[in-house]
Amino acid sequence: MIADDEAWAAVTERNRAFDGRFVTGVLTTGIYCRPSCAARHPARRNVRFFANGEAARAAGLRPCKRCLPDDVSRDERAVLSAIEAIKAAGQPLALAALAEETGYSPSHFQRVFTRHTGLSPAAFARALMAERAATALSEEGSVTQAIYAAGYSGPSRFYEATEGRLGMAPSAWANGGRGAVIHWSVVETSLGRMLVAATAKGVCRLSFNEGREALDQRFPQAELVEGGAEFEALLAQVIAAVEAPGDFGHIPLDVKGTAFQEAVWRELRRIPKGETRTYAELAAAVGKPKAVRAAGSANGANNVAVLIPCHRVIRTGGHLGGYAYGLDIKRALLEKESK
Ligand SMILES: [Zn+2]
Repeated sequence: MIADDEAWAAVTERNRAFDGRFVTGVLTTGIYCRPSCAARHPARRNVRFFANGEAARAAGLRPCKRCLPDDVSRDERAVLSAIEAIKAAGQPLALAALAEETGYSPSHFQRVFTRHTGLSPAAFARALMAERAATALSEEGSVTQAIYAAGYSGPSRFYEATEGRLGMAPSAWANGGRGAVIHWSVVETSLGRMLVAATAKGVCRLSFNEGREALDQRFPQAELVEGGAEFEALLAQVIAAVEAPGDFGHIPLDVKGTAFQEAVWRELRRIPKGETRTYAELAAAVGKPKAVRAAGSANGANNVAVLIPCHRVIRTGGHLGGYAYGLDIKRALLEKESK
């Protein structure tokens, strides 16, 4: 049995690590709780600790209806079996299916899972996929080793050297994407619903508050496939780049524009995180200082938001200027990147 001082400290911290190791009996209410119960803390003098629910019931106490102290092991089993199922599947599983296994409602299961792991089941699956993809690359070295073997000092040098092409496949885009297979997904992010689409060569569309119909319009001849295991790994990297902006030069793109548009997009990729440029500076950087308006249009024609960071271009004088998906998202992105 844990010492009373330690137990009380766990209760005041609502420390979930102690759930299942003792229960907190409240003599004045006749209720017993798990240490992490979210209910208001009782006065210390009214509390007695018991080794488990059985001992508390023997003393005449009833289980709390809010924290369900007798369900601790059931929660743990539910979370562990869900984690096993996700690992075995190697991809995100439907919440309803995961919950059904446990006998919990989907919303209750989602809460229990998130409380234990800090991530929703879907986010947990994505993080797992991203980790596996990263491990596969570093161990099997399919890309990284090739880069070093080719004499580059590291991936970022490699992508700098090849950025002139931005991973473009010009022929595929000439006919509305004829012959291209595009995997796509819509995911919830802190910036709202985000559409991500990619060919085998890289991300070809990243936008907000759009769905499949946007892809039908842009790539009418392409074959559209929702999800896909390899795509999920790329998607996890894209989500990470959006939620915690860092260096995303390693994420491949598959875009095609006019020579001028592509020059502008390359310049956008050179703006360091946390910095902004004006439209005039952007035009000057591509060697056309008078083409400020055209630089703005090229900026707006960008198919891949965030990864081609058109949000880093603002008006002279500090005004945010425009943004295809609304200024709230532009402002939020710049705020994230300034930290
Ligand atoms: Zn409780």
